Amino acid sequence: MGAIILWSMTTPKILVTRLIPTPGLLLIKEHFQPDVWTPDQPIPRDELFQRARGVDGLLCMLTEKIDDELMDAIGPQLKVISNMAVGVDNVDIPAATQRGIPVGNTPGVLTDATADQAFALMMAAARRVTESERFLRAGKWLNWSPGLLLGADISGATLGIVGLGRIGRAVAQRAQGFNMRVLYHSPNAKPAPGARSVDLDTLLRESDFVSIHVPLKAETRHLVNADFFSKMKPNAILVNTSRGGVLDQTALYHALKEQRIFAAALDVTDPEPLPMDSPLLELENCIIVPHLGSATRQTRDKMALLAAQNLLAGIRGEHLPHCVNPQIYDREKNA
Ligand code: NAP
Repeated sequence: MGAIILWSMTTPKILVTRLIPTPGLLLIKEHFQPDVWTPDQPIPRDELFQRARGVDGLLCMLTEKIDDELMDAIGPQLKVISNMAVGVDNVDIPAATQRGIPVGNTPGVLTDATADQAFALMMAAARRVTESERFLRAGKWLNWSPGLLLGADISGATLGIVGLGRIGRAVAQRAQGFNMRVLYHSPNAKPAPGARSVDLDTLLRESDFVSIHVPLKAETRHLVNADFFSKMKPNAILVNTSRGGVLDQTALYHALKEQRIFAAALDVTDPEPLPMDSPLLELENCIIVPHLGSATRQTRDKMALLAAQNLLAGIRGEHLPHCVNPQIYDREKNA
């Protein structure tokens, strides 16, 4: 009995904001008795505040806004925030850093799945896959026609990659297999074999496909805007698998509607979910899917495991395997 009381007094309090894939949940349950939000929808903000109060570790999703106010409500005992995503735009990193709280993310394990999704969207937009399937299902396929639903060649075309990090590089690699010419704009990137570094204007002027892979932060919000579209080729296709906020959707709507570019394919929108009255949904030349970049069973298992490992390390006071604000450790060293 005494041992049970001691365990319940000392065992760290953990909140997991969603039912994550088994490998991650099992690892957490080996060590803790986590509070897991199980409904298949994001935890409402007031519920998040209630349940997070007093926790030592928080494992969260991109659907939760982890800001100063929430960190205050959780309390000073909070040892780790583990985000099950590589993008951390939902977490106020300076606020966590100021409190000395490490923030974990899940880079690498989702690179190939997300690059595959970018490529799948690029091909679907080039060959009008969703539009032609709608055409068929509407009973409009009356005969073969030499001019029916013509798309664009991928082989031999130029692909411009904005943001040559892990995912951008993986997209560049795939493009080489498709015999594409690859340009990139990414100011601090190391050279990539078979791809040429150019300024953004050159990339937009020369690319038949433009694929966006930058993180969402103050400098990249609405990086893809009316000016950006005005510099693209009229037959160009835009693919965004980064974050919805990187793209000005009103500008995209006008660019597509007025056929200033050929098509767009979006994995991410702003807001998410995209309201069903969004004018983008009226357009045949706009493919939109519900944020599925990393959505394969294998990848989500790996993301959950990595997020659990980050959580565990943070609770133990060890360096997180993947920490986005490692400067907190320098501070500890110098203290
Ligand atoms: P990463 O390795 O950090 O790559 C991002 C690259 O963008 C870095 O090379 C960065 O350069 C560059 N960059 C930053 N600002 C730029 C700018 N203004 N212009 C040009 N390049 C710029 O990240 P990643 O793992 O490839 O992931 C990229 C993003 O994809 C994530 O942040 C996330 O938002 C998104 N994502 C989406 C999904 C999905 O489900 N759709 C899945 C995974 C990731 P520096 O390093 O020099 O800053």
